[in-house]
Amino acid sequence: MLRQVAEGVLIHQSEFVQSNAVVVQGRAGVLLIDPGVTGSELDCLANDLHEPGRPVAAGFSTHPHWDHLLWHARLGEVPRYGTARCAANVRGQLSDAGAKARIAAHLLETEIAGQVPLDLLGLITGLPAETARIPWDGPHVRIIEHQAHAPGHAALLIEERGVLVAGDMLSDVLIPMLGDVNGTDDVIEDYLAATGPPASDRCATQPVRARRPPDRPPGAVPAAAPIPGW
Ligand SMILES: [Zn+2]
Repeated sequence: MLRQVAEGVLIHQSEFVQSNAVVVQGRAGVLLIDPGVTGSELDCLANDLHEPGRPVAAGFSTHPHWDHLLWHARLGEVPRYGTARCAANVRGQLSDAGAKARIAAHLLETEIAGQVPLDLLGLITGLPAETARIPWDGPHVRIIEHQAHAPGHAALLIEERGVLVAGDMLSDVLIPMLGDVNGTDDVIEDYLAATGPPASDRCATQPVRARRPPDRPPGAVPAAAPIPGW
């Protein structure tokens, strides 16, 4: 079920880790960001969008993790974008013939085993580096690429609606997933920089500040308390 969080911005929350698909209303269709996870959720979303003025005009994946790269045939054959770095990472993943089988195997440990359609996974086009906005006929959606959580991760700022789409960077039920903690980058600094937008921005339904971990001394690992039951 779609729920409006700002004028012309709706979300569909997955039961799987409460991640959000985000729908932005444009002039003749919608932009669909990180569509969702299980086949039935994607089907439900397609039903909700099966209304005049709501055909999917374009898609966007915030980052190259499998649960943000999914699609459903009923959502249509439209341009699906990500950052150039995200798309390159996905190409690398899919060049391995066993990639989808490994995702399916990983899902066997979860409550959604066998429920995730992987056939249209990752069919995205990389937008040239430094692209400032998603090319589509709707509100300006600013691409803020950063180095936290996953290669080529993009937070999306829909300034005129006061909405920040954070794509796994802020969660009520998961600890902050910083990225490659064994890499050379300072992932904690990257994470905090990436989640420190102006106070007026929102992540779907709650203030960003409420979802960031509390400030810690430099070098300390951020901590967050999940909501009860998780
Ligand atoms: Zn992720």
